[in-house]
Amino acid sequence: MTFQTELLQWYDRFAAPLPWRTTADPYRVWLSEIMLQQTQVETVIPYFERFLAAYPTVQALADAPLDDVLKQWEGLGYYSRARNLHRTAQRVAHDLNGQFPHTVDGLLKLPGIGRYTAGAISSIAFGQAAPLLDGNVIRVFARLTDLPDDVTQAAVKDRLWDLAEEWLHPERPGDYNQALMELGRVVCKPRHPVCADCPIQAHCQAFAHSTQAERPVKTPRPGTPHYDVAAGMVWDEAGRVLIAQRPLDGLLGGLWEFPGGKAEAGEELPDCLRRELQEELGIEVEVGELFTVVQHAFTHFRITLHAFTCRIAQGEPRALEVRDWKWVLPDELSQYSFGKADRDVIKALESRRGMLF
Ligand code: SF4
Repeated sequence: MTFQTELLQWYDRFAAPLPWRTTADPYRVWLSEIMLQQTQVETVIPYFERFLAAYPTVQALADAPLDDVLKQWEGLGYYSRARNLHRTAQRVAHDLNGQFPHTVDGLLKLPGIGRYTAGAISSIAFGQAAPLLDGNVIRVFARLTDLPDDVTQAAVKDRLWDLAEEWLHPERPGDYNQALMELGRVVCKPRHPVCADCPIQAHCQAFAHSTQAERPVKTPRPGTPHYDVAAGMVWDEAGRVLIAQRPLDGLLGGLWEFPGGKAEAGEELPDCLRRELQEELGIEVEVGELFTVVQHAFTHFRITLHAFTCRIAQGEPRALEVRDWKWVLPDELSQYSFGKADRDVIKALESRRGMLF
């Protein structure tokens, strides 16, 4: 029996009953695939269900304000996915008559859809013979072939894409692709592959050579840079705090934050804060006590966010380098979408209400 047949037999018996597997509806397949990028299945399930309840169709998602979509996405991270999701929904609903393209080439024209996601949607929702390669599939292939080469190299990845195409099951490409990813997720796991339960063990070269722990070969990432960021919790006489909305393009685009920014080399944090608030909002602030410090890791760097209590010494806020700004009462903060670091500041605020000037 080929490894594909054995893999599919295993999948037919043991596939996890995930909510997006109940139908081949392209809208659900697309939504789940975008949410699953860089995110664990267990984390995605409740978001997927809430999202579908809020936006049951691509038209409903296209018609929703971006701020509402970002709020639904809050906590899932990588917010460019939410902005692209909204843009793609609008393209599909308005320009494509509500129909997702069936082919990889057609899907690749939509925002936020790369080669992996296009392969997944095309094969799972439309039964097209489209290969895919994600981290799970790379690991399974590297072990199946006992690949000694570094899978982070582009040329090696190209060869793996060729394998994905060559090994594709012609009659059930969508199930086969899902079976490969599922195998990587629950059996051929990164640290401790459960080879004893593996349906394709007889075909696995790494198992035969006892090299599972050394595959796939990856060059270690260089050290992650770290930045100190100063944020202002600017209060007014009415007990409201100033929040600003980040520009749509760029990191955390469209999310709200306590305004501020990254300290330059040798710059003191209060000086950084005064400079940033002048540049972004045109206000001069008096920087008070350090309110809280939170740590946060993004994909390629880490930050320490220092939140200071402030008040305006001069000027009225203007949206110079921000999309919008608002004075809000602490109780109203939950109505806005914030990134993780600012949500940690809000948590600290909730636990220390009444201690501010
Ligand atoms: Fe992975 Fe082990 Fe199966 Fe090989 S035998 S594919 S290493 S789980």
